[in-house]
Amino acid sequence: MRILVVGGGGREHALCWALARDAAGATLFAAPGNPGTAGLATNLPIDATAVDDIVAAVRAHDIDLTVVGPEAPLAAGLADRLVAAGRRVFGPTAAAARLESSKAFAKEVMATAGVPTAASRTFTALPAALDYIAAHAEPLVVKASGLAAGKGAVVCATRTEAAAAARDMLADGRLGDAGREIVIERFLEGEELSVLALTDGAQVAILPPAQDHKRLGEGDTGPNTGGMGAYAPVALTTPALLDRVRREVLEPTLREMRRRGAPYSGVLYAGLMIAPDGAPWVVEFNCRFGDPEAEAVLPILPPGIAADLDAIARGAWRPRSAVVLPTGAAVTTVLAARGYPDPPEAGAEIVLPNDPGEGVLVFHAGTARDERGTLRVKGGRVLAVTALGPTVAVAADASRAACGRIRFAGMTWRRDIAWRELARAGAA
Ligand code: AMP
Repeated sequence: MRILVVGGGGREHALCWALARDAAGATLFAAPGNPGTAGLATNLPIDATAVDDIVAAVRAHDIDLTVVGPEAPLAAGLADRLVAAGRRVFGPTAAAARLESSKAFAKEVMATAGVPTAASRTFTALPAALDYIAAHAEPLVVKASGLAAGKGAVVCATRTEAAAAARDMLADGRLGDAGREIVIERFLEGEELSVLALTDGAQVAILPPAQDHKRLGEGDTGPNTGGMGAYAPVALTTPALLDRVRREVLEPTLREMRRRGAPYSGVLYAGLMIAPDGAPWVVEFNCRFGDPEAEAVLPILPPGIAADLDAIARGAWRPRSAVVLPTGAAVTTVLAARGYPDPPEAGAEIVLPNDPGEGVLVFHAGTARDERGTLRVKGGRVLAVTALGPTVAVAADASRAACGRIRFAGMTWRRDIAWRELARAGAA
């Protein structure tokens, strides 16, 4: 089998790793890939969003299965184009990917399907948005409806802040087209949880849930980022909670998407807030594996993911179980460049140990090789260092120790990934 992974970050390196492990004998390609995927796949110098070029490459390289990593090509219709060209693809159509690419649409689907989510309203005109803010209790969350690379949600402690955020997006166009429509919603209390499920549009297999760490600084302080680390599994997720997520969130959403004539297949990622009473509320949907969640979750899946993705793409999937149990625990620490999440400083030389250590996987994200072959910092999130272990505590120690053996100027990382889980284990 010839498999193409679209994308070039840590998630796509982890996807290549999982596919190489599970589909022995498969020939892998990545577009554009990175120096990490180069060890597992043939990198094709094509931007992930260059839909025409990717469709042409799928023909030229006679690709059997295309696995799409990021949201932008899905929202741009890459899956539709490949299906029209008679090719198998893992990832939703553009109409189904609207669950992520339009928060206004996702809210509408959830409201119709009765899925628990924060009360909200959608606006395109500033005066109406300001009236709504004035009439609602603090805190409020103001969100760009469109894709904003993780920068579209502003949690506002006060109405004044909420009004400023709305003005920023609707009047000043700070997020461009993504912010021409905004969603204003109630603030949800609780603990966040990322539940990723494989689905063919009707059946669901829930993967081991993970927790992301969005803030730059230890103790969840500082600016929001694309994610500074993740771990799985999360002890918060009892079988009873996962059963509620399936019945109250995943199944009704998939049913409503079928009813609308936009069946959803691929990974449905529900970003949840687990309320103090244990109820799951949807904060957002993503239409793909999360990054860095993929780097923690994929390595602890039992073998067979390649067959699952291919069967879903064929429309002939039989889930092996409704809930996929992890084979152990994983902690992923992201090593970021100086300056991140603002435009980072690129160019520093990266020094990796010859052997990262037993049970340690170093996934490349923002790296590049210069003309001499020296590995250098290229993007904000540079590497994702995953350690596997029997428990989250063991994996957390191993991930931090492995990061300590990697060097580049300006290396920025959190030494507390999985702190909530460690606190839970300590309190138990
Ligand atoms: P989103 O882009 O919708 O995932 O939001 C980014 C982050 O903002 C989430 O991961 C939460 O930490 C926070 N957030 C978004 N919406 C809410 C909400 N309604 N209540 C509390 N926090 C939220």
